[in-house]
Amino acid sequence: MLIETLNLQKHFRIGAGQILHAVDGITLNINENEILGLVGESGSGKSTFGKTLIGLHERTGGQASFNGEPLPARFSAQDHLHFSRDMQMIFQDPYSSLNPRMTVLDIVGEGLMIQGQHKRSEVRDLVAEWLKKVGLNADHMSRYPHEFSGGQRQRIGIARAMIIKPRFVVCDEPISALDVSVQAQVINLLEELKNAMGLTLLFIAHDLSMVRYVSDRMAVMYLGNLVESGPANDVFFNPQHPYTQLLIESNPEPDPALERTRAFVPIKGEITSPVNVGPGCRFADRCPKAMSHCRTVTPESVEVAPEHRVACHLFTQ
Ligand code: SF4
Repeated sequence: MLIETLNLQKHFRIGAGQILHAVDGITLNINENEILGLVGESGSGKSTFGKTLIGLHERTGGQASFNGEPLPARFSAQDHLHFSRDMQMIFQDPYSSLNPRMTVLDIVGEGLMIQGQHKRSEVRDLVAEWLKKVGLNADHMSRYPHEFSGGQRQRIGIARAMIIKPRFVVCDEPISALDVSVQAQVINLLEELKNAMGLTLLFIAHDLSMVRYVSDRMAVMYLGNLVESGPANDVFFNPQHPYTQLLIESNPEPDPALERTRAFVPIKGEITSPVNVGPGCRFADRCPKAMSHCRTVTPESVEVAPEHRVACHLFTQ
């Protein structure tokens, strides 16, 4: 087990005594050299979970560890330096995540310079090597981010994360801001690097078909809670939680001929507010199978098949 979280929480105080429960008790393991896909609608807490895990947000509660080493709730500068050797992040927006005033050399080489284990000339050589690995040219290193397309910028972001040779990378919606034609190229690049480097990835996305394609296991979040997790094909082709079932039914079918014959089943209503949430199932207001006690009793996670877990009262009665 490379990553373990136990009841991980991230709450934000938003004034007037109100608390936003962005992540509310996530217990999850990520095995070495696997891709765990994390899905859910916008506002489900996926990105906040990833950022809290690697110390970009202070953890409100619960525990987390990397390779058996406890991760602090609040990372000090020393903790960031220590854990960033093994844990990196690829950000969603390749436009805002690259400093427009820095050259590609400085962006990609920054982590190595901070680690302080290489001379400037060595950093330059490594940046050139990594630009080639991600499909760019070594002479791109003197240019600035605005001189590149979205897909190229995301390749720069990937090189920045990978040059450190991490063991674990959080990929936070790495393709959602890219053209469809470029998405597959970036996914293939991530898979190649994962296999070549023996990486472990947390792949956060809302495109379920893509997540099933790249992931070994899949986890589904709703309003800060984990509602279902298991082998990616089991969860995608045999979803058990009512939310996962609706999420997959509302997912567009990539084959246009099949898509035309399919009845579109949208999930009713909007995701409810994560502010000052009480007990009970958070999906109860939108769930077609809700029972009276769903609104008052929080469902426990139970194993419904080998390594396939669901948090729903339909399985706890
Ligand atoms: Fe629906 Fe109840 Fe299950 Fe929640 S616990 S998903 S409301 S059946």
